[in-house]
Amino acid sequence: GEDLFQLLWCPHDHESAGGAPLSMVKWRSAADLHALAPNPAPAPTSESRYLCEPCNVAPERVVEYPPGAELDLDQLEAIAEWLNAHAAEDLQALGLEPDDPEDPANYEHHFSVAQGTKVGGHVKWIQSASRPECTCGRPMDHLVTVASAEWDGAWERWLPMDERHVRELSRDQQRALQCAADLMLGDMGNYHVFICRACPSWPTWPVFQCS
Ligand SMILES: [Zn+2]
Ligand SMILES: [Zn+2]
Repeated sequence: GEDLFQLLWCPHDHESAGGAPLSMVKWRSAADLHALAPNPAPAPTSESRYLCEPCNVAPERVVEYPPGAELDLDQLEAIAEWLNAHAAEDLQALGLEPDDPEDPANYEHHFSVAQGTKVGGHVKWIQSASRPECTCGRPMDHLVTVASAEWDGAWERWLPMDERHVRELSRDQQRALQCAADLMLGDMGNYHVFICRACPSWPTWPVFQCS
């Protein structure tokens, strides 16, 4: 079977992709690949903010919960009350104040959805939630997010423990780790690819959001 996923994109603004790169998903069998051709040089007209710097990936598995943008206000209030009552130690360890349940922020930023480039899990919506619907009528599932930054303000939770020292470095040094792939999708935006695995062809659909 196919065990290799490739996300290719055209490094220009495309109206049809919400003003973001147009992407294409390829599934391949790694065993069928032989000598890899070198990366082609980017076309001179390419947008440099859409050209990825080669960088190492050190994946970390985390448990995520649905984003606040997909829950209603009663649910968010109940979660905030629960966190205040049962997660005092976690809040303290993260240096966070308990939430005002009427205006909760801790769950959204620190207890639900991880920031950064990732496979699977939930979407860190920057705008309102806009999960696409497949042509078969089913909601599509999040497959991959390509992010402009690995963490933002909520570094207390999502910055890996062994990279915490970067908080003491200069702004430029911090940024080199925060944006290691050197992508800038709109204004610190995220590019999400959704998939429908109920359809035999596994159709995908991109959603781009930025602030
Ligand atoms: Zn193009
Ligand atoms: Zn479908």
